[in-house]
Formats: sequence, C-alpha cells, structure tokens
Amino acid sequence: MSIDGPAERRKQPPQTQTPRTGNGNCGISSMSLANRLRLNPNKEHKPDSYDDLHQLEFSPLLFSSLERYLPPTMLNGSRDLKLQYMRDILLRYSSESERTRVQRHREYRQKIISHYQPVHKELYTMQAAQFFVPSFLKAINENTEDSFRSIMAEPAPGIYTFEMLQPYFCELLLSEVETFERWVIETNFRIMRPNTMNRYGCVLDDFGLETMLDKLMEDFIRPMSRVFFPEVGGSTLDSHHGFVVEYGTDKDSELGFHVDDSEVTLNVCLGKQFSGGELFFRGIRCDKHVNSETQSEEIFDYSHVPGHAVLHRGRNRHGARATTSGCRVNLLLWCRSSVFRELKKYQKDSSNWCGECQREKKERQRQSIAATKLELLKRDGKPTS
Ligand SMILES: [Zn+2]
Repeated sequence: MSIDGPAERRKQPPQTQTPRTGNGNCGISSMSLANRLRLNPNKEHKPDSYDDLHQLEFSPLLFSSLERYLPPTMLNGSRDLKLQYMRDILLRYSSESERTRVQRHREYRQKIISHYQPVHKELYTMQAAQFFVPSFLKAINENTEDSFRSIMAEPAPGIYTFEMLQPYFCELLLSEVETFERWVIETNFRIMRPNTMNRYGCVLDDFGLETMLDKLMEDFIRPMSRVFFPEVGGSTLDSHHGFVVEYGTDKDSELGFHVDDSEVTLNVCLGKQFSGGELFFRGIRCDKHVNSETQSEEIFDYSHVPGHAVLHRGRNRHGARATTSGCRVNLLLWCRSSVFRELKKYQKDSSNWCGECQREKKERQRQSIAATKLELLKRDGKPTS
C-alpha cells in the first residue's frame, strides 16, 4: 500500500503534467450494430441495482449507470444477462493494471469501513438544513444564474466565492477527521494521503463519506457548475474525490503551484484559527500550456474565511502560501466529468477554456485580419507602406 493516493487522483505539479492516455475501445466495433450501446442514455429506464455485487472488478454504480445505454432489446432482459454484457465491454475497455488498482482500492476501503466506528453518524447522510447556511440553500433551491450570483462574488474571471457551511457542520467534520486520524495512529493503519503533495489530511471517501459527498456534488455543486463551467463538463460532473488537507507550523506549511485532477474544484475552509495560507491563482491552462506565462488579469489572491467556499475550474493554476501560525483545515471536493474527459481526447482546440489557447487564437485572427486588409489595399492599388 502506498502513502500516496491512486495515480489518477494525484495532484500533478505543472512541470510533470502529463495528458491521461485513453483506453481504446477496441472490440466494441466487432459487435453487430443491433447490439451496440446507445449513444444517449434511456432516461426513462430504471436500472437494476448491482449493490450486492461488490466482488466485481467494477463499481456497482457503474453498472447501474451503464445500463441506461444498453441496446433497447436488452433493457428488459435478466440482470445476469445485462451484467455479463456490460462486464464484457468494461473488461475490453480498461487495462489489467487499472482493474487491479481499482480492486485493491476497493479492498482498502472495505477494510477501513469495517473497522472504523464513526462518531458523528449525522455527517454520513446529507442534512442540508443543518450543513449549509440559509442563503446558500435558498440560492440552490431557486437554481438560476441570478440566484447563484446573488450570494457569490466573482473576484477574478471564473473564480467564485460564497458563504456555504454552518459552523455546526465544520465542527462536526473536524471532530470526525480528528477521531479518524487518532484511530489511524492507534491501529497503526497505513492510510493513503489525498495526493502526492499533501502529507497531512485524509480522503473522506475512504471512511464512509462517499455517499454524502456524492449528494453534495450532484445536488449542490453540479447545478452551479452547469451555469458557470459548461465548457469543462460542468453539467455532467459524475464522480468526485473528497478529502481534507491540514496546514500548520507542525504540518504541511504551503502547497506548491499545480492544477487539480478535476474539472471543477470546491475548496471550503473548515477552520480553525490561523494566519496566512492564502490561495493564489494564475489562470486556466490546458495540458500543452500549463507552464505558459500568466497574464495580469489572471492573477488573484484569496484569504480563506471559515465556512466560506471557493469554486473554480480544476485547471486554474494555483497554490497555497504558508500558513504562518495556528492550524488550517480545508475540505476539497474535486468534481470530474467522464463525458468531458472522453470528449477531450478528440478535441484539439481548448480555446473555450484555456487562457493561452484563447490568446493564441485571438493573435491568429488578428494576423489574418491584418493580412486581408493588406491584400485589399494592394488590390485597390494604394501604396501599402
Ligand atoms: Zn491551451
């Protein structure tokens, strides 16, 4: 078991950022047309539950989601038949090493969940009225761009800040994390840290908070992302990585410049007392441009306030300055869209979200307009110099 999180979850420093390599869908093309997966899901179909099948290589949830894409003739078949069909596809699609990694991680989680006794059971299901401040709940219920903007500030393009969590929730989560960390020490359990850059903190999904955080993503973060981040899959966020990080003079002090392995990142300060620890942002970049220059309008520094959230694209380059006194704990939710990741493999143009692609595109347009003008002037027989 490694101290670091699984590879797909690692924060990649910009210098070593490597594009994820796609798993080809070989094999699927050999199936007859009638047996192909549908392009769009059948939203009316109520999929079977696969929750009792934890021994399989893939998550039960994945089977339930995939079932909506089955050929119409299969939808009402037996669960076993559908399972076999979907498993065949998934096995062709994912590599052996990826499957082994997923399987090991599932066993790791099972081991923690079967031994760790949560202290605050109320944390493990979504209790929106107790967790969130009324203004945030009201904005989400109204579910319009205006309602979201009424509680938010946008201090730099694409970075949104707002009050979100009740002190009650922050205290509960801090206390649960402390208890979990104590249990880890007492039992000598080797846990995976949230990513390669944080030596302190823990993955909330690993000790039972996955369902609650899924709900947080689906019912609260996705509605906002649908409005503010549509070009990076904001409306199709379908998985998350949820963790807390801890900073202080006796812990990690600062966090280097990086991009997150997420489409949309929610970063909320839980407390406690601290100074320093400001976030600094330096603009959104695709893989190719991750190390390119920062434009002045992309520079933004943010000081954390307990209970307040920052919502930004995962590809907005950022880091955290040193926490100079006290202890700072933040909740991070990296939200991902498998649809966006799949599409990204085929799209070369990222100018609808990468700041540098955008700049290059504008420059090309400027040059082309200048060349056309020159050409027209020449045709008119006017002197060009
Ligand atoms: Zn770019």
